[in-house]
Amino acid sequence: MTFTEHNQNGVVYLTAPNITARHAFTTRYGGVSGGIWSSLNLGENRGDAPENVIENYRRVKEATGIPTDHMAFTRQVHGKIVRVVTEEDVHTLMTPVPYEADGVVTNLPGLAITCFIADCVPLLLHDPVHKVVGAVHCGWRSTVQDIMAEAVAQMQTLGTDPADLQAAIGASIGACCFETGPEVPEAVYELLPDDHDGIVRPGKAPEKFYVDLREAIRRRLVQLGLRPENILVSQECTMCQTEKYWSHRATDGKRGHQAAMIVLDQE
Ligand SMILES: [Zn+2]
Repeated sequence: MTFTEHNQNGVVYLTAPNITARHAFTTRYGGVSGGIWSSLNLGENRGDAPENVIENYRRVKEATGIPTDHMAFTRQVHGKIVRVVTEEDVHTLMTPVPYEADGVVTNLPGLAITCFIADCVPLLLHDPVHKVVGAVHCGWRSTVQDIMAEAVAQMQTLGTDPADLQAAIGASIGACCFETGPEVPEAVYELLPDDHDGIVRPGKAPEKFYVDLREAIRRRLVQLGLRPENILVSQECTMCQTEKYWSHRATDGKRGHQAAMIVLDQE
């Protein structure tokens, strides 16, 4: 099983075949922004022109069918908070999000939930039985704080059994490029004390390491009760493919945002 790539009027996005709720992992392709935001920037706080960002969301709606005029967002601080969002959290584009949360979950049909990435790991979750969805921004700090457990716990408050969950881990900085100091592997070993074989390999310099964050997230999800066959992991690296994806590291932070979004269909 692999991700499916779509091109709808130039808007290029990916979907995971195991997730039957409407969803998308966006790329750089298909928007109207120029320069460092070229072209499908969905980040509101990256310095891009508001009218371009708004038009990019409109194009995503047209291409994917996701109601980007009825969304709730993360406000990402590399923490572990996952918020259950409701109608009260519906976001107006280019206005501040009034809460902090690196993950959002909901059981409301028609409310599209969205997280943002540019190297960090996007995680979409779908419970097709109790009809709950989640969008989680998993940078390494959120990952080692176990935001995955928070996401599953919040979905459980809405009735989810983890064994029913389908998960998709999207494009992000891969183990090929995610070079870190010792603090990242040390925290990963703490998260996965008995199950971290193969996640860390030595870097080119002393005290440097390459870390497979997606694999760490996948293994933690299995510990939390997800079935391994229900977890799809992208093999694409944002830093290796800077035409297709924004990479925070590759651009030195001068960049836009791609998004991962998911929505439950109206009954
Ligand atoms: Zn890479």
